[in-house]
Amino acid sequence: MTLYSDHIGAFIQGVTDPEELRQFIKQKFSEAEIQFAYEKMLADTKTVAKAEKIPLLKAFWKVLDHAYSTKAPPMTCGKGCSHCCYTGVAHTQLEWDGMMNNARDKGINLNEVIEKSEKTVRKVAKTLESGIDPETVDWYHMVVNQRCPFLDEDEACMIHEDRPLDCRLMVAFREVCASKNLEHAQRGVLIEEAVAPTVIARLQYETTPKIRRRKFTGSQKLRIIQRWLLTWKNKKGGKKKR
Ligand code: SF4
Repeated sequence: MTLYSDHIGAFIQGVTDPEELRQFIKQKFSEAEIQFAYEKMLADTKTVAKAEKIPLLKAFWKVLDHAYSTKAPPMTCGKGCSHCCYTGVAHTQLEWDGMMNNARDKGINLNEVIEKSEKTVRKVAKTLESGIDPETVDWYHMVVNQRCPFLDEDEACMIHEDRPLDCRLMVAFREVCASKNLEHAQRGVLIEEAVAPTVIARLQYETTPKIRRRKFTGSQKLRIIQRWLLTWKNKKGGKKKR
């Protein structure tokens, strides 16, 4: 990962680890700036959700999109440009619920989604079955350079409107990316990128029934897409048609 700057401002190239990016951005801003941005994003999300009568996460995506469109140069990403979809994507339960709603509304057959990525999903399943502590597994490297299960034949995201945060943070501003290894992917280094994971964690906390809530720690469990798909398959019996 390397930090560059040009007439537009600072940017990062070559990020392959979302956690590395988050830590990097956090170092760029003071605690007070981060706290203010977090509270503002959370409040703005609730305002948008109430005004437009939409779920909190959908409102949050609107707030994040607004930050990108007003504070960062225009993205050079486009439909069919899928280089960043050949990497590991990890996300929370709340984001997964949004993705599932999108899949349900569009009539996407999740069994077919799993079958398309069978090799990678099987690798993840075998690792889980081995009894190894999932917290010690490098899930990202297990799936990197493999197609995301939600990438369609036209190299477009099947659930684009509800794609998770990891996908939204992997964007290009200066040139179109030209590598599946992401060495040309660039990030905007916005403060919203630094606080977005905590805002999502808080939204998940607040939408969890009180009886099931634990103390809010600022984060929620992240799992890669293939693992969420396996959990869905195990819960639903897999072969049932949706
Ligand atoms: S969820 Fe969509 S945007 Fe994200 S990696 Fe998969 S196909 Fe790409």
